[in-house]
Amino acid sequence: MKIVVLSGGVGGARFVQGVVEVADPADVTVVGNVGDDLEVLGMCVSPDLDSILYALAGLNDERRGWGRAGETWNALESAAALHGETWFRLGDLDLGLHLVRTQALRSGEPLSAVTAGFVRALGLETGLLPATDDRLRTWITTPEGEFTFQDWFVARGHRDDVDALRFEGAETASAAPGVLEAIDAADLLLLAPSNPYVSLAPILAVQAIRDALEHRHVPCVAVSPLIGGRAVKGPADRMLSRLAGGTSPAHVASCYTGLIDSLVVDEADADALDGLDVRAIVTRTLMTGADARRRLAETALGVVPA
Ligand code: GDP
Ligand code: CA
Repeated sequence: MKIVVLSGGVGGARFVQGVVEVADPADVTVVGNVGDDLEVLGMCVSPDLDSILYALAGLNDERRGWGRAGETWNALESAAALHGETWFRLGDLDLGLHLVRTQALRSGEPLSAVTAGFVRALGLETGLLPATDDRLRTWITTPEGEFTFQDWFVARGHRDDVDALRFEGAETASAAPGVLEAIDAADLLLLAPSNPYVSLAPILAVQAIRDALEHRHVPCVAVSPLIGGRAVKGPADRMLSRLAGGTSPAHVASCYTGLIDSLVVDEADADALDGLDVRAIVTRTLMTGADARRRLAETALGVVPA
């Protein structure tokens, strides 16, 4: 069974790990968000693609939730001593990847090719594709002004309410090579339990990807990132309250109108299904460890008979 997963960073990566543990990893293609990408200390950083890559390779720090296990911070401390920018945390091990990517991008290689190179180098069988090779950047409008995604999320600790989002470059962005082909060949499409507004919306802002999902002939299942109406981590619940008017499964599904047939929701939300216009699949969705994420992935895969 061929599977495509649309995914943001940390939450999405956890789910993707579960998917490749219950399906043949070679049958899985992950399409990652690039709206969070940034240039910091002269380097090109793709935080969501890297979270997925590190999780797939087993290099991620499960306890911290982001970055690499066994990380050290010497380069950043050295930059701090020289009054360099340190608001965006880049560890020593992580830096190696950004150096290689930055050099490759500057020499003209597209992000999809650079990412495929990392996948090969790490011996992974799963496909990992950026949504687009074109420049696409998420901007956040707040009562305090408009900020780039990382300025709002990291530097300002996502404390400002969000009034609107803008995906710079999305109007003209093409899907990266392989994305539409993978969607076309898929038996199942999955939307990871990522933040609908800042992780999945930038992917769906690429018109060709949205069109491909709208015209799908196979099931498309989203997993809700909320449990009991609350985000496990991050601002998804606050954003849904303000932008969609609530945090019920129906509000989550409203982010994916016309794109999904089913929504996997937590048992804690089972009595809040009013107004949900897609099939609800109720299960435990907290990915506390390997077993929990495998069970969640199995449930999502279960919509397609084996
Ligand atoms: P980011 O790009 O690193 O911010 O990560 P994502 O957007 O992919 O994931 C963030 C979302 O994952 C948040 O809204 C969390 O609520 C959700 N999330 C994290 N862990 C879990 C979990 O164990 N279960 C569920 N259902 N959602 C989770
Ligand atoms: Ca992200």
